[in-house]
Amino acid sequence: NQMATEASCIFCKIIKNEIPSFKLIETETVYSFLDIQPTTTGHLLVVPKYHGAKLHNIPDAYLKDILPVTKKLARTLGLDVDSPQGDGYNVLQNNGRIAHQEVDHVHFHLIPKCDSVTGLG
Ligand code: 5GP
Ligand code: ZN
Repeated sequence: NQMATEASCIFCKIIKNEIPSFKLIETETVYSFLDIQPTTTGHLLVVPKYHGAKLHNIPDAYLKDILPVTKKLARTLGLDVDSPQGDGYNVLQNNGRIAHQEVDHVHFHLIPKCDSVTGLG
C-alpha cells in the first residue's frame, strides 16, 4: 500500500475544503467531520491540520486541541453518557495497516455506542 503524500491525501483535501465533508468543529490546529462510512450514527473523525501518518509523527502543537474538541463533540452529540446504564462511546486512533489504519493522515475516531444521537441537527 502506497502512502499518500500531502498533495494526494484525502484528509488534507477535506481540511482545505477541496473535497466536501460534513464539518463539525474547526480550530487553528484541528478539523472534525462525520465519517463517510459510519460504524454507528454520529461516528466522526478529529484530525490534526498537519500531514503525518502516525501519532508519533505529529508535533505536540497540533495535538493539544484534539481531546478538548473530541470532548466537546461527545457532549454535542447529545448522548445520555452521565447515567450508569446510559450511552457510551469509544475514542480510537489506529497506527499502521496491522492496526487497521486505512487513511495515512492521523485521525481520532469518536464512535457512539447507542441509538440516541440527537445533536447533529
Ligand atoms: P482508519 O481505518 O484509517 O482508522 O479509518 C479511516 C476512516 O476514514 C474510515 O472510518 C473511513 O470511513 C473514513 N473515510 C475514508 N475516506 C473518507 C472520506 O473521503 N470522507 C470521510 N468523511 N471519511 C472518510
Ligand atoms: Zn494529510
